[in-house]
Amino acid sequence: MRKKIVAGNWKMNLNFDEGQKLTSEIVNMLKDENVKDVSVVLNPPFPHLYPVKKLIGDTPNLYLGSQNCSDKASGAYTGETSAGMLASFGAKFVILGHSERREYFKESNELLTAKTKQALENGLTPIFCCGEPLEIREAGTHEAYVTQQLTESLFGFSPEEMSKIVIAYEPIWAIGTGKTASSEQAQEMHAAIRKHLGSKFGQELANNISILYGGSCNPSNAQEIFSKPDVDGGLIGGASLKSRDFVEIVKSF
Ligand code: 13P
Repeated sequence: MRKKIVAGNWKMNLNFDEGQKLTSEIVNMLKDENVKDVSVVLNPPFPHLYPVKKLIGDTPNLYLGSQNCSDKASGAYTGETSAGMLASFGAKFVILGHSERREYFKESNELLTAKTKQALENGLTPIFCCGEPLEIREAGTHEAYVTQQLTESLFGFSPEEMSKIVIAYEPIWAIGTGKTASSEQAQEMHAAIRKHLGSKFGQELANNISILYGGSCNPSNAQEIFSKPDVDGGLIGGASLKSRDFVEIVKSF
C-alpha cells in the first residue's frame, strides 16, 4: 500500500540543544494532532540520531531516519557509519542520493546502488533522491535525466527490494531557493517516475511506491502539491527546522 510520508531533512543544521528542543516540540504537537495516516520522519545529522530517537520514544507514526549511510557493512572506513549501526538503535529510514551528496561528495549512481543495498539488507527504508539541475530543466530533458538516474541506481534490484524503496523527486533548482516546482510540474514528473518504475517492475508494484516531492516545500504550498495524485508526501529541508511549519506541512494532506 502506498504510504503518505513527510520527512524532515535537517541537513547540517542545529546544535545539540536546538535539536532536542525541535524534536520535543514536534513530538508534543503531533500528539495533539490527528495525523495517523501520515508517517513522519526526522532525519537529523549523525550526532543527534540516538538522542532524537530517545525523545521520539513510542510516539505513533513518528520515525527516525539518517541522512546517509556507508556503502560498506563494517571495517576500517574511518568516519563512516553503517546501515547496521543505524538500524541497531531503531532508525527506520535513510536518505540516499540527495543532490548535495551527489554534487559535493561526488556520489555516483553506482555507489548509491551499494548504499541502497546496505540499507535494504539492514531493514532500513531508503528515501532515494533524484532530480535535475536547472540547465536540464531548461533544455526540456528532465524526464530522461531523472529516469536514467533511477535506471542506473535501482534497476538491478528485485521487485521485492524495489517495493521497499521510497523515491523523493527533488528538482535541484527548487532546493533552498524558495522557488518551488508548480504542482503541475511535480505531478508530471512523479507520474513519469511511476511509469518508468512500472516499465521495469510492473505497474501494480509502481502504484504502491511512495514518491515524495522536495524543494522549497512550506506550509503555504504543501497542500496544493500534496493534492496531486502521484505526490505521496514531501522531503522537507528548511521548513523542517521550525516545529510549527513542519507540523503544518504534515497536516497538509
Ligand atoms: P528545502 O526544503 O530547504 O528547499 O530543501 C529541500 C531538500 O533538499 C530536502 O532534502
